[in-house]
Amino acid sequence: MNDETRETGATVETVWVLGDQLNEQIASLKGREPGTFRVLFVESRAKVGGRRWHRQRVHLVLAAMRRFAADLRTAGHLVDYRVASSLRQGVADHRLEHSPTEMFAMEPMSFAGLEMLRSLDVTLVRSNQFLCHYDEFAEWVEGRKAFKMEDFYRWQRRRLDFLMDGENPAGGRWNFDHDNREPPPKDGREWHRPPTIALDDLDAAVMADVEQWGDLVGEPPSGHWPTSRAEALMRLDDFISQAIDAFGPYEDAMLHGEWKLAHSAISSSLNIGLIHPGEVCEAIEEAYRQGRAPLASAEGMLRQIIGWREYVWGLYWLWMPEYRTLNSLGAERALPPALADGKTHMRCVADVVSRIDSHAYVHHIERLMILGNLALLAEISPQAMTGWMWERFVDGAEWVMVPNVVGMALYADGGRMATKPYAGGGRYINKMSNFCKECRYNPTKRTGEDACPYTTLYWDFLARNEATLRPNHRLGNQLGSMRKLKDLTETRARAAEVLNLLDAGDL
Ligand SMILES: Cc1cc2nc3c(=O)[nH]c(=O)nc-3n(C[C@H](O)[C@H](O)[C@H](O)COP(=O)(O)OP(=O)(O)OC[C@H]3O[C@@H](n4cnc5c(N)ncnc54)[C@H](O)[C@@H]3O)c2cc1C
Ligand code: SF4
Repeated sequence: MNDETRETGATVETVWVLGDQLNEQIASLKGREPGTFRVLFVESRAKVGGRRWHRQRVHLVLAAMRRFAADLRTAGHLVDYRVASSLRQGVADHRLEHSPTEMFAMEPMSFAGLEMLRSLDVTLVRSNQFLCHYDEFAEWVEGRKAFKMEDFYRWQRRRLDFLMDGENPAGGRWNFDHDNREPPPKDGREWHRPPTIALDDLDAAVMADVEQWGDLVGEPPSGHWPTSRAEALMRLDDFISQAIDAFGPYEDAMLHGEWKLAHSAISSSLNIGLIHPGEVCEAIEEAYRQGRAPLASAEGMLRQIIGWREYVWGLYWLWMPEYRTLNSLGAERALPPALADGKTHMRCVADVVSRIDSHAYVHHIERLMILGNLALLAEISPQAMTGWMWERFVDGAEWVMVPNVVGMALYADGGRMATKPYAGGGRYINKMSNFCKECRYNPTKRTGEDACPYTTLYWDFLARNEATLRPNHRLGNQLGSMRKLKDLTETRARAAEVLNLLDAGDL
């Protein structure tokens, strides 16, 4: 396109970039010459107002969209950035004003998004945002009677050639999980905190807009989350140079008041496209080869990226849309008040909920073994729990929430994803954290007013679901121990009280 055409706004093709595709290398933009087509962004007020989002989550997406659009303009792209009542309206307005010859978009990250793009007659470009496209995942699954993450992970490692020495895994082992399950260290160490990101006028403008458009929750942004590619790359670099050593051994550890320990806090950047999973894997590989990261930590992190993350992505597309509605244990409890306001005597829950408020984030084990475990044991509705987490986590997205909440944490898929429920009592939490010492409840007790609610509910959960869980051989020992409890009747009576207190916001 010549300069004249550029100025007169002649009719050209449009590439619509969605809010979780914020990278110049996405398949729909890659290789296109700036100025020869138009790039469309739509900010939807309906999306912001549609749920009670955490402020930091809404800010992340809109600030990142506005910054990316500005970067594209600087690079010579023709950008049409719109704020509209809805995505559909934004596209209609764009079509009216610019009459694009054809409209393209990269395949979206959600099932509903795919249906919408199809209905809007947008030409889809195959996604390159994951290392394994969901079609390839479906091919991998085909013909297998049963499959699990570990098989997929090894297949990924071989074909992508990360941490491999020829045909064999580096160090001769595929899995360092055994070395990576340490309780928190007792040396009183300072945990590395990534540098805070300075907020500017663009951030202030985003916040001013979204406060008008939605009924939001949580503390406003204070520089925890990268909203540009440059910031996201710095976050990755900071993790690799400062925290990866401790990531492996302490990935399951929890400490009161510590927001990320040695976790990477890169999920929000990955999930909106600021960085690509391939870049993370290359950084891990390089750190290991140069002796800057121990193998157990490098392997532990690689497993999260090419294993769990890509597995969850594949499962979402394989099993949707039914998957999000599953509720195999018939769990119908509404969200308890403790999750809304963090006002509870359960010290672990109070701390985790307060950090969601301040950071829109808690790490994996806190999501799984504090929040998910409570919901599993107390029979909170999987759909209510998915919605609650989706609104509050900075990295929330349906594709990652549904398998992790419905499948992994709440066993609502009857064991399709996890081979057994991730149910644990207070002893597990006490071993892996420092929450219990100053808690009103005692993790070793299952009866009485000071019994830990997790411990009481754990035994009650096994008794309540015995018939459903009996065929699962991996639960044989736990069910056997439950049957031998001399105080099972008392424990179950206390469980009923605990659930009443939970509902009343008095636990
Ligand atoms: C109940 C529950 C809800 C979750 N909700 C989300 C969510 O909304 N968004 C989200 O991105 N992740 C979610 N996860 C997965 C995981 O907890 C987060 O990705 C991780 O805590 C993000 O923090 P981090 O970047 O510091 O991760 P790290 O611990 O440093 O791990 C590195 C990366 O691995 C990937 N990863 C690790 N485990 C998983 C997993 N199970 N599924 C997908 N990716 C994984 C993430 O991209 C993460 O950034 C959830 C897990 C559970 C059990
Ligand atoms: S005793 Fe129970 S409720 Fe209290 S912090 Fe420990 S696990 Fe949480």
